[in-house]
Amino acid sequence: MDHEEVIRFDCAHLWHPYTSMLQPLPCYEVVSAEGVRLTLADGRILIDGMASWWCMIHGYNHPQLNEAAKRQIDTFSHVMFGGLTHQPAVELARQLIEISPGPLDQVFLCDSGSVAVEAAIKMAIQYWHAAGKPHKHKLLTIRKGYHGDTFAAMSVCDPVTGMHELFSGILPKQFFVEQPRCRFEDEWDERCIEPFETTLAAHRNAIAAVILEPIVQGAGGMWFYSPAYLRRVRELCDEYGVLLICDEIATGFGRTGKLFACEHASIAPDILCVGKALTGGYLTLSAVLATRSVAEGVCADGRVFMHGPTFMGNPLACAVANKSIELLLKSPWQQKIGAIEAQLREELAPCRSLPEVADVRALGAIGVVEMKNPVVIAEIQKRFVDRGVWIRPFGTLIYLMPPYVIENSDLSVLTTALVQTISEL
Ligand SMILES: *Cc1c(COP(=O)(O)O)cnc(C)c1O
Repeated sequence: MDHEEVIRFDCAHLWHPYTSMLQPLPCYEVVSAEGVRLTLADGRILIDGMASWWCMIHGYNHPQLNEAAKRQIDTFSHVMFGGLTHQPAVELARQLIEISPGPLDQVFLCDSGSVAVEAAIKMAIQYWHAAGKPHKHKLLTIRKGYHGDTFAAMSVCDPVTGMHELFSGILPKQFFVEQPRCRFEDEWDERCIEPFETTLAAHRNAIAAVILEPIVQGAGGMWFYSPAYLRRVRELCDEYGVLLICDEIATGFGRTGKLFACEHASIAPDILCVGKALTGGYLTLSAVLATRSVAEGVCADGRVFMHGPTFMGNPLACAVANKSIELLLKSPWQQKIGAIEAQLREELAPCRSLPEVADVRALGAIGVVEMKNPVVIAEIQKRFVDRGVWIRPFGTLIYLMPPYVIENSDLSVLTTALVQTISEL
């Protein structure tokens, strides 16, 4: 198929994320990718500001990740995980236990972020069920969160942006409190936690777990909140006897400047979800880590944990994940992400004075420009592509989260394109 045929067939037959099959948005055909650059079918080269939605931390077509994948393909690509095990899965569990915060040492491997969230929620519900408290099966979360598109995950996404109306009556009803308004760098104000404490205290007997994205809320609003809030959440979960699930699917593996965002608050959850950057963006893979005490609860009196995806522990994905984690830990990632943060702060600052801009913020390798009004995706996307960059806004949010390996000069191309494009709006 030539380029035109590819686009024509795509528009007629392929669903893209959150799009209509009747009014397809324009999309661009990629023919190769290398480092931080995507090559389009028409020969144009774009600098990637999205890391393919948080995943591609080491850049595209990485020789060592390619090598790890090829070596595993030539050994075996997949075997069932029921009754069988293998080195790639065991090594991955060993690495995750070692680098994750706190005593999280029971690992459940699964195939996507949403499934990890489903498994984490099931774990919390099974925990209380086994403890003779089956009435504790609800979740408490904060508004403007995003946890995935499957049903239990959707039930804890923001009720407004998270499709609750469409599925009302079908989605389980959970408890929500307002988004923490205390910003990452703000001095702590104890009043910020009051709505959370009030709701938790009132419904402690119905709540199995609190689930949230620690420090950085991603797809629900790209919002950075105070580590003190997360510390208080941890204390209150212990005080009121509910489990804490941290969804680090977006934030894990260095993105916020710490290996895991929980570390900004020096806390550890009872259950942790990771995904996205786990394989350096090569393959879909996720994991749920839990404490021994959660596992002992779930498995009390001969019980089993009721989950087991077909592709659980896929050796190919595990082998690439092992190499990706090794590459990350061997790199000066803290320095690199610190430098990206400083550059994002400085180079996005001029946006503050633009009339259409509501807020500008940066944390780790994440830079956000929040607009006063939603942007028209197809139009702004084209302007970015014409400037040689790949930046995909949503709603009022235009943001950058490049691969960690990006050079200063390439990051400047991204920030310049962003500032110039916004100035023209
Ligand atoms: C992307 C994301 C998910 C869902 O992961 P998928 O792999 O898309 O299913 C869940 N939680 C958070 C915080 C995410 O960013």
